[in-house]
Amino acid sequence: MNCPLCASESKFVFKINGFDIHDCVSCDHRFANIKTDEKHVDKTYDDSYFNDGGAGYSDYLLESDLLYERGKRYAKQMEHIIGKKGRVLDVGAAAGCILKGYVDEGWNGVGIEPNQQMAQYGRKQYNLKIEQGAFENFRPQDKFDLISMIQVVPHFYEQHKAFLNASKVLKDDGFLLIESWNRQSISAKIFGKNWHEYAPPSVLHWYSLEGLTVFLKNFGFERVSHGRPSKKISGRHIKSLLEYKLGKNFMLNMIPEKVKFPYPSEDLFWALFSKKASLKT
Ligand SMILES: [Zn+2]
Repeated sequence: MNCPLCASESKFVFKINGFDIHDCVSCDHRFANIKTDEKHVDKTYDDSYFNDGGAGYSDYLLESDLLYERGKRYAKQMEHIIGKKGRVLDVGAAAGCILKGYVDEGWNGVGIEPNQQMAQYGRKQYNLKIEQGAFENFRPQDKFDLISMIQVVPHFYEQHKAFLNASKVLKDDGFLLIESWNRQSISAKIFGKNWHEYAPPSVLHWYSLEGLTVFLKNFGFERVSHGRPSKKISGRHIKSLLEYKLGKNFMLNMIPEKVKFPYPSEDLFWALFSKKASLKT
């Protein structure tokens, strides 16, 4: 399979969960050798992704307050950098916890989420506007000032289609915020194939900050700011992820489920891209 970003040849690096992982020989991209289409999204993000543990969330809603706080933090940070609040689209909104954080900070928010049950929950529970579907095919009536993609980029079934659409649905002076995992981070290198983000078939792509920055230039996006997010994670989520990697282990029972641990986000980055910066040049 050729690189889904630059179409160069690729080489096999290792196998995870029975899937072949490949490295592009020319750009910095690593990807799962899986043919994906729209059906992949429906299949992967069915209700079990959110409820049954494994690579998804052991119980997404238990994480809701943490996600809400993250939404609020990004809402304030983006307002500070961009200099205004506006219309925000949260991609992969799930039940809308991050989106609600934006809305409560004064942003006009819309979410797009493939899982019907999650989208419905967010609409009912938090009174949010959440559309159901894959972002690649999302055609909203009005354009956005900010698109927020918090840990969703590696899940897109078609990377070109997703970022082409991001450019289409953004206003000319709009911004794209991405939080994602860094495959060139120290943790990713130390853990090798046991790094928690190697979880195909829900995770399909592994970027570095630089690799993503170079790729996004193809769609007219220029990086204007970046950093490392500070985040917290519940004991229950840690347990679920470790169980997925290590199997059931009595030591894991010692992790208190309700305690929130600061997450060492060395392997996570956020980056803000501007559409306008590149239009000017
Ligand atoms: Zn490539």
